Amino acid sequence: MLEQLDKEYVLHTYPRNYVNFKKGINATLFDENQKDYIDFTSGIGVVSVGHGNKELSDAICTQVNNITHISNLYAIEPQAKLAQKIAKLAQMDVATFFGNSGAEANEGAIKIARKYGETKFENKRYKVITLEHSFHGRTITTVKATGQNSMHSPNFAPYPDGFSYNDKIDDIYNSIDNETVAVMIELVQGEGGVQPFEKKAIQELAKFLKEQDILLIIDEVQTGAFRTGEFLASNLYEIQPDIITMAKGLGGGVPIGAVLTKHKDIFQPGDHGSTFGGNYLSTAAANKVLDILDEHKNSGALDETIIYFNLKLNKIFEENKNIFTQEVGIGLMRGLRVRDADTLAEIIPAAFNEGILVLRAGKNTLRFLPPLTISKIEIDEGFKRLANALNKIK
Ligand SMILES: *Cc1c(COP(=O)(O)O)cnc(C)c1O
Repeated sequence: MLEQLDKEYVLHTYPRNYVNFKKGINATLFDENQKDYIDFTSGIGVVSVGHGNKELSDAICTQVNNITHISNLYAIEPQAKLAQKIAKLAQMDVATFFGNSGAEANEGAIKIARKYGETKFENKRYKVITLEHSFHGRTITTVKATGQNSMHSPNFAPYPDGFSYNDKIDDIYNSIDNETVAVMIELVQGEGGVQPFEKKAIQELAKFLKEQDILLIIDEVQTGAFRTGEFLASNLYEIQPDIITMAKGLGGGVPIGAVLTKHKDIFQPGDHGSTFGGNYLSTAAANKVLDILDEHKNSGALDETIIYFNLKLNKIFEENKNIFTQEVGIGLMRGLRVRDADTLAEIIPAAFNEGILVLRAGKNTLRFLPPLTISKIEIDEGFKRLANALNKIK
């Protein structure tokens, strides 16, 4: 049985639900008993073009039938094309390094910042300021960059030096000293509670940092690849950061991470690398994902989906004010604040039983990250099932 196998042979890092999914079609999943589920999680913002996407699977199969992997010692055509596509869609003069995950992308961003801090100034600048409630990954360094005390377990100490946290954007100004090299933030905190920052505050911070020659790193691991309705949340906020990281939705389920930077000559051969990063498989997949999503955006379908999803979200919020206190989020990165953490802990399994997959974020946010290609029928059905679940826990 799957549960026994998993418990005996897989390390226990997640509180697991022992459903056994066998097939997916867009935002609908089927388990081994043919029960269907509407997926408002897209594998935590990953399956951006839906499950079982034929165009994507064809592109992957074609690539894998030819070459899956060589190594970064040779030029890789889909990698170069993907880097060009990213620069065009971002409307920024950037070059990209490819890794395999969000954490690896953020590690790359921190390395770029540290090298900038070593080579550009008389004194070494190495400190990176991040925010409380942020999330930047699970490696030793990105865990330290993450502004959540609960993540800094003594089990994994010692952590690298040079990270400090601020509660608010406005507090960052006073935390900067002559060893600060970068500020690293999400524009919409995902894991922290689907919390967007104010556009004006971000634009002012970006301007100030540029004047001080301090790098602005935007972690778009969750917000990137059209999740907020624009290619990057940075486009939505109309800023030009020094460094941007991407991952989750970029490969449609194939692992890929990316670090984009304006500082195109910062790295020399030998400074950084990744065995798998940017290989034929992942970059062929990401090229197709971006083609599909660019078309989805240009046709107006993405904006229409965002409006429709938000309409339904607003309806369920209005009808359950005894449970929900606030609507949060942007694009197809949405949340409902729940009156308390215990109620939220009841909603998620109740929703699962009704056949609707939803996520938690922060302490008390019910989070929605549906595939960007979700249909209106799936949205209707998903919210209908969520309403049934809410009725059962009242
Ligand atoms: C998920 C996430 C990460 C970590 O990505 P992994 O691929 O799990 O390493 C980093 N930053 C943000 C904002 C994320 O949402």
